[in-house]
Formats: sequence, structure tokens, C-alpha cells
Amino acid sequence: MIDVAAERADTPGCLDQAFLDSAGSSLPTTRVVDAVVAHLRREAEVGGYRAAAERADDLAAVPVVLGRLLGCDPDLVALSDSATRSWNQFVTAIRWAPGDRILICGTEYASNAIALLQRARIDGCSVEVVPNGPDGLVDLDALSALLDERVRLVSLVHVPTNSGQVAPVREVVECAHDVGALVLLDACQSVGQLRVDVEDLGVDALSATGRKWLRAPRGTGFLYVRRSILEGLEPAAADMRGATWTAPDGYELESGARRFELWEYDVASRLGLKMAVEHLLRLGVDDVEAAVRSRAADLRTALSEVPRVVLRDAGADLSGVVSFTVDGVDAADVRDRLLAQDVTVAVSGLPSTRLDMTARGLGAVVRASPHYFVSSDDIEAAAAAVARVR
Ligand SMILES: *Cc1c(COP(=O)(O)O)cnc(C)c1O
Repeated sequence: MIDVAAERADTPGCLDQAFLDSAGSSLPTTRVVDAVVAHLRREAEVGGYRAAAERADDLAAVPVVLGRLLGCDPDLVALSDSATRSWNQFVTAIRWAPGDRILICGTEYASNAIALLQRARIDGCSVEVVPNGPDGLVDLDALSALLDERVRLVSLVHVPTNSGQVAPVREVVECAHDVGALVLLDACQSVGQLRVDVEDLGVDALSATGRKWLRAPRGTGFLYVRRSILEGLEPAAADMRGATWTAPDGYELESGARRFELWEYDVASRLGLKMAVEHLLRLGVDDVEAAVRSRAADLRTALSEVPRVVLRDAGADLSGVVSFTVDGVDAADVRDRLLAQDVTVAVSGLPSTRLDMTARGLGAVVRASPHYFVSSDDIEAAAAAVARVR
């Protein structure tokens, strides 16, 4: 069981508001903030290189703790500064050929879709959409019907940015692997709130961010790549961290996922990421998942009793992202009027998940994403504040 009072005491940002935006950019613990600030001060005292050298052991431990979190070896984790950057590094390391097929799902995220449409424009691939089924989740029959050996990649979002649904990852992976297609999982909204084990899920690659459910600093992200496909991947833009200049006309890529890393990075943020992940591991991923799911379920129950609120999460298995609309009030107005009542939520608009929002006839939803540090009073206060938005 999580000691919510202790967690709240270590999260000053949650004390004077109902903070329901961990799907956007969560609140870090005091310890994480102090560690980041302390490192910035140390850089100012002795210079960035010496400051980093002093923390060499901690920096080397970042992929180790992430490997523990994801259930993989540390050398299969590449650190970056955002989930999108990590996701792109994987996609652009595949040598695409005209006629290659790429399947995306109905909840695809805008940045991913744009990058794949670039592959269509530049490399002559085709990007096709697997529709959602009646339950709002990816339609596995439609997926099977679309798959053939020309499909090289299936791009799947674990939990979308605009709703609480959880994708049937294993089922998608089984179908895709039957025809030899790779599965790239966007786990931005699942890592940190749900148990995510790359072996259990069977995915070939996975990207995620630090600032959301992991409660790490902004500007942190990472990529996991399955060992068996690593050697065939040539990063589109390796530098002297991912590779070594071994001869006037030659270079060698790192053998592990480190080939995807870039030389320069924000050391302080990365130290903060390590602390945030360690904190999660100490709390226990399963306890965190149970707490988040129960906060979100409580919020859905409370909102379902508010007149003119329509809950928008599809599917039976719902995570910590709660999406809703209020009849007759723009999502942005709802957000602003909630903020005026010290309730922080976000708006997820059509351009972020164009396929899903269009299919459901939605222009925007209000997104509330309570983490484990959110109290039951916060949930009640949030529902009461929504009831006053009219
Ligand atoms: C936030 C988000 C991203 C992008 O993460 P960045 O760290 O901003 O690159 C990708 N996919 C989903 C589903 C997201 O919610």
C-alpha cells in the first residue's frame, strides 16, 4: 500500500490544488527537484564535465533502473530527450523501400503519424489505418485482414493521449509477428502508471517519456529495442556517442541500444529521471497501478453523477486517463473554469489523435489524469468543480 500522506508531503505541488494532469506533465517529488537543482549548481561551480564525472556511477545506473522497470537488459535502453525523439530514432533506423507497408491504429498520436507520413512522402511507403472495432479498441480482425508480408511495421499506442483505454498489445504482436512485421509500442501514457514489461508484451521496440506518469523532469525520454533486431538498425543520425570514428573512412556503431543515443544531454534531468524511476520501483509498480486505476475509477464514478457530463473512455480495461465532455461547454472553457477552482486538467484536441476523434465525432475532450498522490478529497473537489461549470 502506498502511504499517500507521505507521498503528498513530498509533492508540494499537489497540496493547494487537485492536480489531475499526470498525463501531461506530472509533479515531481521534492527529492527529484532538489537533485536536479543541486546538479545545476554543481555545474556552475566546477563546469559540466567535472560535475558529470562526479556522478558517473549514477549516470551509468540510469539504463539499469529503466531496464528493471521494463524487464529488459540495460544495454537495450537508449536515453533521449523525449518520447517522440526516441520513437523517431527507431522508425528512421529502418531502411524503408518503396512499397513497404506501415499499419497505424485508430488512436495513433499526431507526432507518430506525421513521422510515418514522412516515410510515405520520402521513402514511398504506404501508411494504412487499422480501424477501431465497436468497443473502441483496435479491431483485431481488421488487423489480420490487412496484414501480409509487405507490412514491415505496426505502430501501436498502449494508452492513447485522449482516453483511458488500454490496447490489446499481446494480441496485436501475435498477429504482426505471424507475417514478420515489427511492433513499435508508444508507451508514453502507460509507463509509470501501468506495469509495462517488454517480454510479457512481446513488442520489438517501445518509447516513453519521463515527465508524465514517471514524474521525472521534462526533456527526458527513452527507447527500448529488442536485441534480435538491434544489429540491423542503423540510426539515421548517429554521433560520437552512438558510434566511434575508427578509421579516416570508417566508424563502428555501439553494439547495444546506445547506438541511438546522442552525445550531448541534460545531465541534471537525467539524474532526476533516475531518482524518479527508483522512487516508482520502491513504491512498487503494481501498487502504483492499483492506486491510479482506483483514483481514475472513483473520478469516473463521481463524474457520472454530474448532469451533462459525458464520459468518453472506450473499452472495458480503463487506465488512469479519464476523458469527458460537458454538454454545451467547450473543453477549453471547462479546463479554464476548473483551473479557477484549483483543479488542474488538460484538453486533448482533435489534431493530437485525429483518427480517433474524427471517428467519434469529437473536437476536443477534457482529460483528467490522477496519479497515486491525488487524494479522495481531490477527486470529490474535482467532480464538484465540474458540476459548477455550467
Ligand atoms: C505525450 C505523448 C507522446 C509524446 O511524448 P513527448 O515526450 O512529448 O515526445 C507520444 N505519444 C503519446 C500517446 C503521448 O501521450
